[in-house]
Amino acid sequence: MKLTRILAALGALTVVLLLLFAGFTYWAQDEEPSPFIVAAASPYASEAGAEILRAGGSAVDAAIAVQAVLSLVEPESSGLAGGAFMLHFNAAQDDLTAYDGRETAPKGASPDLFLDENGEPLPFLDAMISGRSVGTPGVVKMLWLAHREHGKLEWARLFQPAIKLAEEGFQVAPKLAEAIARDPVLMQMPVAQDYFYRRENDGGRVPYGEGETLTNPAYAATLKLIAEKGWQGFYEGPVAEEIVAAVQNAPARPGTLTLEDLAAYEAKKREPICAPYRTYRVCSMPPPTSGGLTALQILGILENFDLRGMEPMSLTAVHFIAEAEKLAYADRDKYIGDPDFVDVPVEAMLDTGYLKSRADQIDASLSMGKAVAGQLKDERAFNWGLNQPVDKPSTSHFSIIDSDGNVVSMTTTIEGPFGSHLMAGGMMLNNQLTDFSFSPEEDGRPVANAVAAGKRPRSSMTPVIVFDEDGAFHAAVGSPGGSRIIGYVTQTLIAVIDWNMGMKEAISQPRFLDRNGALEIEADTVLVTIAPQLEQLGHKVEIKPLMSGLHGILVTPHGLAGGADPRRDGNVVSELR
Ligand code: GLU
Repeated sequence: MKLTRILAALGALTVVLLLLFAGFTYWAQDEEPSPFIVAAASPYASEAGAEILRAGGSAVDAAIAVQAVLSLVEPESSGLAGGAFMLHFNAAQDDLTAYDGRETAPKGASPDLFLDENGEPLPFLDAMISGRSVGTPGVVKMLWLAHREHGKLEWARLFQPAIKLAEEGFQVAPKLAEAIARDPVLMQMPVAQDYFYRRENDGGRVPYGEGETLTNPAYAATLKLIAEKGWQGFYEGPVAEEIVAAVQNAPARPGTLTLEDLAAYEAKKREPICAPYRTYRVCSMPPPTSGGLTALQILGILENFDLRGMEPMSLTAVHFIAEAEKLAYADRDKYIGDPDFVDVPVEAMLDTGYLKSRADQIDASLSMGKAVAGQLKDERAFNWGLNQPVDKPSTSHFSIIDSDGNVVSMTTTIEGPFGSHLMAGGMMLNNQLTDFSFSPEEDGRPVANAVAAGKRPRSSMTPVIVFDEDGAFHAAVGSPGGSRIIGYVTQTLIAVIDWNMGMKEAISQPRFLDRNGALEIEADTVLVTIAPQLEQLGHKVEIKPLMSGLHGILVTPHGLAGGADPRRDGNVVSELR
């Protein structure tokens, strides 16, 4: 009897202890933040990503929420009616994937898309502010594809933060306010004029300013359709119809985009391109972006020099980096286009012997001026004319790591500020097709980046993920900036790898780059003091604001650290163990 009682008491005690333990574990899990970082161009976007990660979402889930919010709060830069490239690292499977959500030229587009009646290239603004510049958007299909493979939360859940903000309103950020105020034509555009400018009693319009609240019910409705119907909510039905109508009825130079173009769009998975740099492996997006290939070429050329032995902002460091950039940008203009349409000699361009021969052309005491594209082994097969580049910077980059160590490095864009300036479904429609070469030929030779139906325009976007010598994740970074993106990202990688800077420090350092023209250096920085010496080395120096927008993550000896570019409005939201 006594024994039974003792056993019963022990049993009860065990139950109580188990309950206490379970309660404690629950409490501990609840209280313990999961380790993650979101670095994006808007605090609203970073917070939306963090909300999804706290709810148990993956890096890809968070990326979808971030993009949906950016489309609302940074409409001048990126959006669901644009295109993007996403690098994704799956930590458990040690697998890196490149997702291509680049816009395509509609079926009705031909090589003379941006030529006037005399066969001359259109002025950039005429080409941009038109229906012709609008490519079939790719972001939503790309996110859908990535979510099918790496999503943890329900698709619909990921749009909640953006729907709430679109309905309840968000405060206009400084960069958006500035973009609205200085845009030369936005106020004359249908739909956009009513969204970005308040109508005064006297009929006049005033741009919404910094800190004012904007709501976007049309966008909330679009998001609800996408949340409910998946990709079909965007590529079919009322949203698709509104996009097509806006393009075909554009006030100037209407475009040919059809519902069939939208229905036929396919996002693609591509093999990332990687190359060693010092003891690391740097991976990025392959063509149709020129970003990854050109950045890897710059690093491959610089591998032949001891940058570590040079001071970060010293004359020698700036000279060598600028010269390497000239050489790589020269190849970029000749050899890169959509790989589904033209052969891009990726291997030959990254061949270490070839890059060494390019490095040998650098003279420590004199700039080469204008670099010419290198002779690749199979020169005849790649006898392209040169691309005639024009671009205006907008775009956005964000980097995310979730609590399982999965990483997203995604650059996303509608091309120029406010894209084509056409608006549908509460979204700015891209002008990505102006990333094609306006002239299909140069000097009688076809250009690799000429317009063709279904083709993707060459990009400069450079989302990067770096691995250490053990193959572990080391860093993620990327930037907006048009063709300057490549220089911004490469300079940041050099700062992190050669100069041991933290991500924040690397992102904040003064910018300089040479796109095979002038050596551009950032105004109001220490670099200005070495401008005269750079000129003595033969550089044509231009001092100007250089608006990078880098957002990155780095593994440091003390753990993970994020960085947001002080030149933009973004931030880092992190919860670390
Ligand atoms: N449309 C450009 C590209 O895809 C980006 C524009 C920008 O960064 O401003 O490379």
